[in-house]
Amino acid sequence: MPPQPLYKRVLLKLSGEALMGKREYGLDNDTVRAIAVDIGDVVAMGVQVSVVIGGGNLFRGVSGAAAGMERAQADYIGMLATVMNALAMQAALERTGLASRVQSAIPMESVCEPYIRRRAIRHMEKGRVVIFGAGTGNPFFTTDTAAALRAAEMNCDAMLKGTQVDGVYSADPKKHPNAERFESLSYHEVLSRDLQVMDASAVSLSRENRIPIVVFSIHDRGALAAVLRGEGRCTIISEQG
Ligand code: UDP
Repeated sequence: MPPQPLYKRVLLKLSGEALMGKREYGLDNDTVRAIAVDIGDVVAMGVQVSVVIGGGNLFRGVSGAAAGMERAQADYIGMLATVMNALAMQAALERTGLASRVQSAIPMESVCEPYIRRRAIRHMEKGRVVIFGAGTGNPFFTTDTAAALRAAEMNCDAMLKGTQVDGVYSADPKKHPNAERFESLSYHEVLSRDLQVMDASAVSLSRENRIPIVVFSIHDRGALAAVLRGEGRCTIISEQG
């Protein structure tokens, strides 16, 4: 018998940039496909999976605002960008033979389902991957916060944050080779040391709902399944640290 996965139901948070591969902008199909295969591996382990994808590879509200657009308007463009990424991921999941549903916080009935909490849970129970698009549906928020919110609503056992590196470091390890890497951290340490892993509201929301945040590298193939087997390289953020 293969070992039981560490968590039964998870929410995977990916930044839009995780889908860019080596490109400067937009989507790289091979990268999206490879992540879909990784998701398929954990579904095969019996884990229920939901996904929140950012939109930073296409549009960020702050950049629009910096260019003179009203911030709320720019944020709506950002939210629509996350729906494009969600649809691309759905297409890739389907190509690997996985059933999935996209649910958008901004209703788009001819494109995907609206966000309905109980329906999303039902999809997961049936083994379908649920991808949440349009963030929280509100401007001035981020998809990190949307991920923490959906993880709580879905009663997830953990939020898995796929990043560029294999955990949380004291500084960006690409710029500071001597940066310290943490095996585990408390929510308090992340907030008080201002460690740049997720925005503070996402960390606080996860803390209130006692949902551990597991930070791992989305670029290491198989790392997602390894984390769920309890073998992967990652940093676990929880109350006790
Ligand atoms: N956004 C928003 N409300 C939300 C989630 C996202 O307004 O609840 C907008 C915001 O403009 C943000 C953009 O969508 O810049 C893309 O999301 P994010 O920056 O979180 O993406 P990531 O950095 O994860 O790629």
